[in-house]
Amino acid sequence: MQWILRRCSACGRYTLRKDRCPSCGGKLVVPHPPRFSPDNRYLRYRYELKKKLGMIPS
Ligand SMILES: [Zn+2]
Repeated sequence: MQWILRRCSACGRYTLRKDRCPSCGGKLVVPHPPRFSPDNRYLRYRYELKKKLGMIPS
């Protein structure tokens, strides 16, 4: 369940809490944010375009 771990930006402690750090009350950040890939979006766009042009049988 690594992806729900949050990390305190103040002391660096990992926690499952969502609001604030249990030890220092600091702000929590997600250490591994969902990856945003412009490349994938681009490839998807290309795919849709090819489909629209009939280059890929649907
Ligand atoms: Zn902290």
